[in-house]
Amino acid sequence: MHLQSLGAALTVTGSAHLLRTRSGGMVLIDCGLFQGSDELEARNREPFPFEPSDLAAVIVTHAHLDHVGRLPLLVNRGYRGPIFCTPPTAALAETVLLDSARLQVEGFRQDLRRARRQGRESEVLPPLYEEEDVHRTLALLRPALEFGEAANIGPLRVTPGRGGHILGSAYLLIEADGERLIMSGDLGNRESGLQLDFTLPPPADAVVIETTYANRTHRSLPETLAEFRDALHKSVRAGGKILIPTFAIERAQFILYELKALMDAGEVPRIPVFLDSPMAARATHEYFEYGDELIPEVRDALRSGEDPFRPSTLHTVVTSAESQRINRYDGPAIILAGNGMMTGGRIQHHLRHHLWKPGTSLIIVSYQSPSSLGGRIVAGAQTVHIMGEEIAVKAQIHTIGGFSAHADQDDLLDFLESTGQPRVWLVHGEPDVMGAFLPVLSERGLTGNIVPDHHEVDLLSTSFSEGRPPGMLEHTGDGKGSEGGE
Ligand SMILES: [Zn+2]
Repeated sequence: MHLQSLGAALTVTGSAHLLRTRSGGMVLIDCGLFQGSDELEARNREPFPFEPSDLAAVIVTHAHLDHVGRLPLLVNRGYRGPIFCTPPTAALAETVLLDSARLQVEGFRQDLRRARRQGRESEVLPPLYEEEDVHRTLALLRPALEFGEAANIGPLRVTPGRGGHILGSAYLLIEADGERLIMSGDLGNRESGLQLDFTLPPPADAVVIETTYANRTHRSLPETLAEFRDALHKSVRAGGKILIPTFAIERAQFILYELKALMDAGEVPRIPVFLDSPMAARATHEYFEYGDELIPEVRDALRSGEDPFRPSTLHTVVTSAESQRINRYDGPAIILAGNGMMTGGRIQHHLRHHLWKPGTSLIIVSYQSPSSLGGRIVAGAQTVHIMGEEIAVKAQIHTIGGFSAHADQDDLLDFLESTGQPRVWLVHGEPDVMGAFLPVLSERGLTGNIVPDHHEVDLLSTSFSEGRPPGMLEHTGDGKGSEGGE
């Protein structure tokens, strides 16, 4: 089989991998949006280097925007075939893609207003896609993939395995041309809190593996939870609002789950909790619906009729008027709002209202890219610009670094070990992280290669020497993530 990566090669965003069999059959694995710098986002507008209508099928590993966000573009450019995924991935993809279309259109309108005032209206690019494009895409979803069950998809035989990253996430065993390939998708942290561990994969000839955190080991879950509890205690004592910026999928549900557990155990007082993210609220509904896929504690709670994602004081905020009204609420409260890196979304107006007050607490539970608003606050900025205003940072800042939805180095090595002695191809990582992972693979007798950007490779060919491909691009991303993922 041949692989051509059209995203997530030498970067962590825009996952899209074209597989070509010897008979010429083509299947696209994931079709994600590039997010981050302007330079990266410009790549969303580039044409696909193939005719979309020539694809036999598309398979999606999970519903994060950087794995599904270019699907509507593929459909707009002529793809009419099936898009295979697991049932929870289909449910979450609807939420993620509709939100993406809304952001595209809102962004376009905002750019247009600004450009009109400068007389440069003609320079504004149209939205990548709109809601009706998403509906045409959703109509092609085939939520037919089940973990452990083989399916014939175009020229491939595909058996999904549990990825343990977010609800519904899968890795794929792909058989064709007498070869066995594993595509890892995004793999979960085995101490993530809600997801069951990824299942160990079967032997394979080649493995294409994500490397987001291939150079580090996560802090243990109990240690991280203790830090979170400690931050909540200090925040409650400070007396003001407690702001928790969260990604809408996985992290928001996990924080709700932990808040409920801590309140039920009497560890945190039952102060109001506002979930101020319609996208997170919809995703939470899917976690509730597919709770059987999650850890036994969640499954058991659901079976006993309880909602483990609903602290007794939870208020789900829908409209932006309701969101504004939270600011008039006097007294301590916990506010969960997106987006996770504070680069947009409702968290911004909460920050503008509260970040300058010494009684406020900001609890950061996800990765912050250094260039994001969250990154600047973590770095100790005294003032920040929010919605056109300079705001003093007087709140207590608590950074909890240990929560992660991605596998760490130990997780990745255990995953690889289970596949025997495959040829290993690295994707979905920053170049320096992948470079640091290569010698670790060598120590275990594995041959690792960094997948080049756009350049087709024969997954079992020995013409590549170990290491980095010739002409490899230098650092291409800043790791800035989306509302939906990290
Ligand atoms: Zn992901």
